[in-house]
Amino acid sequence: MRKAGRVVAEMHTATREAARAGVTTADLDRVAREVLDRRGARSNFLHYHGFPAVICTSPNSMIVHGIPGDYRLEEGDILSIDCGAIVEGYHGDAAFTMAIGRTSGEAEKLLRVTEESLWAGIDKLHDGNRLHEVGLAVQQVAEGAGFSVVREYVGHAIGTAMHEDPQVPNYWPGTPGPKIKTGMVFAVEPMVNVGGRETRTLADEWSVVTADGSLSAHFEHTIAVTEDGPEVLTLAD
Ligand code: MG
Ligand code: MG
Repeated sequence: MRKAGRVVAEMHTATREAARAGVTTADLDRVAREVLDRRGARSNFLHYHGFPAVICTSPNSMIVHGIPGDYRLEEGDILSIDCGAIVEGYHGDAAFTMAIGRTSGEAEKLLRVTEESLWAGIDKLHDGNRLHEVGLAVQQVAEGAGFSVVREYVGHAIGTAMHEDPQVPNYWPGTPGPKIKTGMVFAVEPMVNVGGRETRTLADEWSVVTADGSLSAHFEHTIAVTEDGPEVLTLAD
């Protein structure tokens, strides 16, 4: 899983470097494919329930699952890029959101707070804790900054499949979660909106946007629970 995580981290680095005003989201998909090819890794996104690309690209009010295409990035956009890879049968999955050039102060705050909420969640991935502590920590950071947390889409355990049980909600789920044990691996992935938490799916049946049109950010890592605490497998250098 460390190997798959390193490929995903390399996809992050390559797409982040390529993403600027004038570039299309399909261009970024090609950049990510080159990393997979170079590393001999397979895509876990391509053909997933018919998904047509190796990354998801979700600009501005799009929360997740955007299909790379002819959308041309503009100065001031924010863009979420979600990447995945399979190496020797094991999966990695991670996402980040970046600004294209200079963006608004509100957008910058959203990116900072969403990433902070991810790290607050990761910090709870210790043997003996319960899984709901992750979501509670995410929620406290995001809502504490005046933002809202998406409910319909959540994190997940990950291993020989991308999406394994149990789910990892980014909020208090109403009942205590299962106990976290050394050896478990999770994808923690807060989706945070400037406005309300409600979502809407577009006619392409993939793209999920905020119902009120407000900006949304998404950060994700694949993390192994070790005897020494959480080990983030998808961290770029
Ligand atoms: Mg995921
Ligand atoms: Mg992902």
